[in-house]
Amino acid sequence: MKIGFIGLGNMGAPMAANLVAAGHEVAGFDLTAPCPEGVAKASDAAQAAQGAEVVVTMLPNGTILRAVAGEIIAQMSPGAALLDCSTVDVQSARDVAEIAQGAGLLAVDAPVSGGIGGAAAGTLTFMAGGTEAGFAKVAPLFDIMGQKAVHCGPSGNGQAAKICNNMILGVTMIGTCEAFALADKLGLDRQKMFDVVSTSSGYSWSMNAYCPAPGVGPQSPADNDYTPGFAADLMLKDLRLSQQAAEAADADTPLGQAATALYQSFVEEEDGAGKDFSAMLPRFVSRRRG
Ligand code: NAD
Repeated sequence: MKIGFIGLGNMGAPMAANLVAAGHEVAGFDLTAPCPEGVAKASDAAQAAQGAEVVVTMLPNGTILRAVAGEIIAQMSPGAALLDCSTVDVQSARDVAEIAQGAGLLAVDAPVSGGIGGAAAGTLTFMAGGTEAGFAKVAPLFDIMGQKAVHCGPSGNGQAAKICNNMILGVTMIGTCEAFALADKLGLDRQKMFDVVSTSSGYSWSMNAYCPAPGVGPQSPADNDYTPGFAADLMLKDLRLSQQAAEAADADTPLGQAATALYQSFVEEEDGAGKDFSAMLPRFVSRRRG
């Protein structure tokens, strides 16, 4: 397949490289990042999109996605698909899909989970929104770049699934960290706490698979001085998107709101920027009840 790939950063570069390794012809463009080996460098986004059956975008946010979509849609042939894998706000995903469909294109929003490791290994999970025809067109690429793709409904629903999942993740990570900090102050050993909670009703992915306490549970960023992993900055981005969506949809999300405020102060006012999102544990340990 002839593929355009726009946004070759931490995630986009390994994803594009996997498409090349699977035998696809990929033309890439990024404002600053270099093209991975095997990806033909285009002079701009429009050139990367010309004649492509699918154009994949992997960009920082909805404003940039809208701008790039504005440059490429007119270059794409009817029946081609615009596949946005960035994490962006639901409304940008829906608006871009509407414009693309108006130009006779297929459009799929498919944010990912699995991080940089999953992008490199081709084991990402895609949460997709769009028509059946759009999903069917890009599904072979999901099989190369990932291990699972869920069609979540019409355009924007991939982004909706992503931010709902990550709102749960942010809230459960905070809950797990504050419980460990309380356990410390009550004289409860962290390993004992893990042994009980990981097999009791307080269990979660944050506790069982990504335990924020160093030396407890499976290997996690906590065992590597909280080097990400999944950076607190990215968790803050996703929580903000959840709150933007909650406001637009008039949904009551008090814990999502509290988690956003906590990650905001952690990243912007404390020393959380650049640390894994599980570094909330030392943050809670160092604080008194406020
Ligand atoms: P990144 O900043 O490393 O890559 C984004 C790339 O887009 C950069 O190289 C930048 O130069 C390029 N870019 C910006 N504007 C452009 C334009 N107008 N034209 C062409 N290129 C442009 O970010 P990333 O970590 O690769 O993340 C990409 C997306 O994936 C984000 O939406 C992020 O939220 C999401 N995501 C990231 C992770 C992760 O672990 N990094 C995990 C899941 C989802």
